[in-house]
Order: sequence, then structure tokens, then C-alpha cells
Amino acid sequence: MKVTGQCHCGKITYEAEVEPARVSACHCTDCQRLSGSAFRVSVPAPKEAFRLLTGTPRIYVKTAESGNKRAQAFCPDCGAPIYASAISDPQMYSLRVGCLDQRAQLPPVKQIWCRSSLEGTPMHRDKNVIVGRAGRVGNVECRHTATQFAALLRGCGR
Ligand SMILES: [Zn+2]
Ligand SMILES: [Zn+2]
Repeated sequence: MKVTGQCHCGKITYEAEVEPARVSACHCTDCQRLSGSAFRVSVPAPKEAFRLLTGTPRIYVKTAESGNKRAQAFCPDCGAPIYASAISDPQMYSLRVGCLDQRAQLPPVKQIWCRSSLEGTPMHRDKNVIVGRAGRVGNVECRHTATQFAALLRGCGR
């Protein structure tokens, strides 16, 4: 599906192609701190399909506990998070769904790092596939599915 996005002040605008089935919510502590929220919702876009239209994001390089480094792109004026990617030659951009104009059509269908999810986090739990480290989102126990978890980890780079 084609999406368009912009930061809060509007200086940065972009477009991309994403698959709604790949929208995930990450409850890791890095995503909590970087988003200033209980969790962060992202969707991957291949580099061929991602195009910056206006503005230049600033990059913050996050180093995870694992040593993994990820570029976190944000608007230097309003601070809105735009995407995360590899620090060199990115093949994929993990777009922050909250800045996409079509976000209402992109609910998270997977959740990861549930063990650090905040109590009472409101999600559409019924239809969610919940994967990842042991933990809970609300009353739902997370399952361990290592393959899915590894694939989703690229979204936040833990
Ligand atoms: Zn901005
Ligand atoms: Zn995360």
C-alpha cells in the first residue's frame, strides 16, 4: 500500500510502499524512551519504495545493549521520529507509523519485547499475533516464536 508521511512541523515529507501485515508495536525500553510513549509502532519499507520529498532528517545513532547500531532519523526542528535504518547503505527503512497519513489503516498486528510493556497498555489484542520475549501485554501472554522475533527485531535494532 502506498503511504505518505510528514513530521509534525511539516518540513519533512516522504512517501513509501508498505505491507499492512507487517506493522508491529515494540515495547522495548529503547522504543519507549525514543518515542516518549508506552510503545512504538513501525512498518518496514524497502529502500526502492521510500522517497524523501522535502526536508533533511537529522540522524541519531543508537547503540543497543547488544552492540547493534541503528540510525534514528528525526526532524531537527520539531523532533518527530521519521524512521530507523542501518547506519550505512540501508536496504530498508522502518517507518514510524504515527507520522504516516494512513496510520488509521495500519494497526499493529505483531508485538515484540512484551516483557517491558507497561501495565494496561491499550491494544487491539484480539486480532494480534503476539510474539517475542516472555511477558504480557495486558492479560495476554506472549509466545516465543524465535524466527518471527528475529525478523521483527530489525524494526528497532535491539
Ligand atoms: Zn518537523
Ligand atoms: Zn524496540
